[in-house]
Amino acid sequence: MSFVRSVIPEFEAANAKYAASFDKGHLPLPPGRKVAVVACMDARLDPAKVLGLQEGDAHVIRNAGGRTIDALRSLVISQQLLGTREIVIVHHTDCGMLTFSDTELKSKVRSELKEDADHIAFLPFKDLRQSVIDDIAILKKSPLVLDVPITGYIYDVKTGKAEKVKE
Ligand SMILES: [Zn+2]
Repeated sequence: MSFVRSVIPEFEAANAKYAASFDKGHLPLPPGRKVAVVACMDARLDPAKVLGLQEGDAHVIRNAGGRTIDALRSLVISQQLLGTREIVIVHHTDCGMLTFSDTELKSKVRSELKEDADHIAFLPFKDLRQSVIDDIAILKKSPLVLDVPITGYIYDVKTGKAEKVKE
């Protein structure tokens, strides 16, 4: 194990400050704006700020690349149990998913960890726009997902703008 200074003391101080002026304790469980957002986990992308979301508004499901196949479990829960009726997908420029192949990462895991990751599809992509189109298509085809409006965006990490992806 390498020793890296932990963020925990900073997190705890930040939370104490947040809780001191907290006034959102009355919010109901189902998202008020009935929307589920699937977004990349990239540290530069804050879906709440990009889309103007407040606490209680939306489900925000995040993973590497904002891949919808990887969000299916959460989307079914979101729709069937918590009433969301619209889906928004947010991928972004300069995404790490554009920088590696599934085979490369599998061999890295094999050499670094001496473990086999063959059962995991890491879902990288070579074409950003196509990745959004593919992720919309996956949801439209899935019998587990309701027929609801699905909109895809590419967020530009340089300008802050989210551009709608048209098929
Ligand atoms: Zn990304």
